Amino acid sequence: MKLYDLTIHELRRLLDQGETTAVEVTGTIYERIRMLEPKVAAYLSLAEERAMEEARSWDKKGYGDTTRPLAGVPLAVKDVICTRGIRTTCGSHILANFVPPYDSTVAQKLKEAGGILLGKTNMDEFAMGSSNENSAFRPTRNPWNLDRIPGGSSGGSAAAVAADECIAAVGSDTGGSIRQPASHCGVVGLKPTYGRVSRYGLVAFASSLDQIGPITKDVTDAALLLNVIAGYDQRDSTSVPREVPDYRENLLEGLAGITVGIPREYFVEGLVPEVEGAVRQAMKTLESLGARAVEVSLPHTEYGVAAYYIIAPAEASSNLARYDGVKYGYRDRAGKTLMEMYRKSRSEGFGAEVKRRIMLGTYALSAGYYDAYYKKALQVRTLMREDFLTAFKQCQVLVTPVAPTAAFPLGEKVDDPLQMYLSDVFTLPASLAGIPGISIPCGFTSEGLPIGLQILAPHFEEGLALRVAYNFEKNTPFHLRRPEL
Ligand code: GLN
Repeated sequence: MKLYDLTIHELRRLLDQGETTAVEVTGTIYERIRMLEPKVAAYLSLAEERAMEEARSWDKKGYGDTTRPLAGVPLAVKDVICTRGIRTTCGSHILANFVPPYDSTVAQKLKEAGGILLGKTNMDEFAMGSSNENSAFRPTRNPWNLDRIPGGSSGGSAAAVAADECIAAVGSDTGGSIRQPASHCGVVGLKPTYGRVSRYGLVAFASSLDQIGPITKDVTDAALLLNVIAGYDQRDSTSVPREVPDYRENLLEGLAGITVGIPREYFVEGLVPEVEGAVRQAMKTLESLGARAVEVSLPHTEYGVAAYYIIAPAEASSNLARYDGVKYGYRDRAGKTLMEMYRKSRSEGFGAEVKRRIMLGTYALSAGYYDAYYKKALQVRTLMREDFLTAFKQCQVLVTPVAPTAAFPLGEKVDDPLQMYLSDVFTLPASLAGIPGISIPCGFTSEGLPIGLQILAPHFEEGLALRVAYNFEKNTPFHLRRPEL
């Protein structure tokens, strides 16, 4: 048995039965991290001493306490989520030395549930990107093919899960950053409903879109992790005071009575045939499990990329104003005046994509352009949300591709921001509408790269998406394959 490739629920069982210890598992995973990191580069910081200490303390306390579902489980956390006493860089030079004096709500919940924090994972700077190449430090590589991107912006978390450099991870998703890297790395990624998980201590990119969610080896683990991190938090005014169900109760067998909508607008030019083939095959599998498929229409889908790339940069330009070299983060010391200090700190601290977004956002919000761009984008957002609400009158979930292609080669799109933005075409609409979505493995290309299936559900119906995902997973072998490293 290889301890590092266990899921949360498998590891928990072994710990409960006394067949392994947290020290043994955590030690094994750090050995694997040392072996693989030169190739994969999934982590930006490791917290080995502290993690081993926590592992020892769990082993000593024992595993009788059922209120701690993650006791002794080693986890990875995206470096945009504040962890007290552990560097949180957001993949940016401007926060290269930022050590948060507090825990985000999610980090705190993981800790309270007994999770052991292995380290912080690499990401596109401030979560802006789809390939991890915008990390100010280094790109993460796809464990299935080291010349390919792992996806972004939670590429480090997805690669760490796929390479068995952790048992499970959390990432954040603003326009696809959990679902798309999960898809490219052949793992499960769940973006919860906007408001389901607290954003307190999640460094803000686009506050009306950002959500934290699980990246795991199987669907059961996604349900388990969501149980832990979901819930109202008075420190996040957009978190919703709504009871958290036990999402594992949704993992019911069979899909009888479930109607699956297939949105016509997601099968368009640009979707490569191999990906389309795998997704269509997956729909047949769902039908064979009892689901009924209907074609539906989401007519405003084509405006998603344009609307998102106004709204997200607009919010980012405002959120990122706080990095002025004064309160925290990088400060240029050479400037002689206050203005010079601001300018130099920001121009040296931020990378090219972040600057592009700040400029785009500032432009879209400026007098004279506000109505034409920002307001228009918000109107489109409302229409897209209505599209989903209408479609969900005909079906309970929607099934689509996650990305138009499998993982592309490193370097392929770095110089072409528009091509990079277009790779988000199938994940952005759900983000704009605030609905939950899960990405699960549904096949491989002829080159052996994973293909993902996206399942979208109405607001707060994560359980439905999990149920469909669970049934698919149970009846297909894709989640069992591992990259050779
Ligand atoms: N790729 C998208 C972007 O660059 C989405 C990123 C995300 O979800 N954080 O904005």
